[in-house]
Amino acid sequence: MSGLYGALEAGGTKMVCAVGDENGTILEQTSIPTTTPAETMPLIAAWFEDKGIGALGVGCFGPIDVHRDSQSFGTILETPKLAWRHFDIVGSLRDALRVPIGFDTDVNGSLLGEATWGAAKGLTDAVYITIGTGIGAGILAGGRILHGMLHPEVGHMRLQVHPGDTYAGKCPYHGTCFEGLASGPAIGERWGSPAAELADRDEVWELEAGYIAQAVASLIMVLSPQRFILGGGVMHQEQLFPKIRKKTLDYVGGYLNTRELGDPDSYIVPAALKDDQGIIGAVKLAMDAAL
Ligand code: ADP
Ligand code: ZN
Repeated sequence: MSGLYGALEAGGTKMVCAVGDENGTILEQTSIPTTTPAETMPLIAAWFEDKGIGALGVGCFGPIDVHRDSQSFGTILETPKLAWRHFDIVGSLRDALRVPIGFDTDVNGSLLGEATWGAAKGLTDAVYITIGTGIGAGILAGGRILHGMLHPEVGHMRLQVHPGDTYAGKCPYHGTCFEGLASGPAIGERWGSPAAELADRDEVWELEAGYIAQAVASLIMVLSPQRFILGGGVMHQEQLFPKIRKKTLDYVGGYLNTRELGDPDSYIVPAALKDDQGIIGAVKLAMDAAL
């Protein structure tokens, strides 16, 4: 077995391809635009072909079928990206590369990266939330990544709309779900400028932190995780962290008094792998597939 692992972070705009080792160190990386399977997949296969990888891990945009015993395992499901709907991405890669393939959602891949080499190392119960173009979360429960019926879709949980917030929400399915209220594009549409250009508008981040804290507080009650890791483009606004910590404790309302909640700076933390948790996590998906 080769000591090299292939990693693919399959996203709606780009496919990040990398080769890593068993320490999660990325040795080589490239990025290929996501257009159509017919155009994109041969480029991915060609890049990995001569890399000598022993297995490939794929963290993929969803929804996807991650159940190995399912007929449609390895395919992309009802995505709005029409060219990719029902595409068998795992089958295509296996046929081209002939190596074992690990497959999970992009957020579960990121969670796995953080749980193996980052901010959730050594924990059995943790939640990784990404807040970017969309919102998603990976859940580690009892030392295992939770899949359930399909996989969790934390970005589409219902939230209470803030009394002063008249924005209709960006989710085509639910309007004002978590993603509809708090994704990067939702912030941009509500306030009329891109999220990254609103850094000095305190009211933007007060509202945003309130929505994130609602989700965190609900997940605390449902899952009782030992830590939350927050990543994605929006979380580059570091002023969000103290606001989220304070509002989360407000929403918990003194009902829980654990050691973890007593130290909010260690309880709600940024991703330790910076913006590389997805691709590093895909290395771990490959390592697990090679076993
Ligand atoms: P994706 O979710 O597409 O995989 P990201 O997690 O980087 O990628 O999220 C990109 C989104 O995050 C952008 O659409 C933008 O809305 C938001 N974003 C990116 N950078 C910043 C920033 N510095 N501050 C606030 N929002 C940002
Ligand atoms: Zn939704």
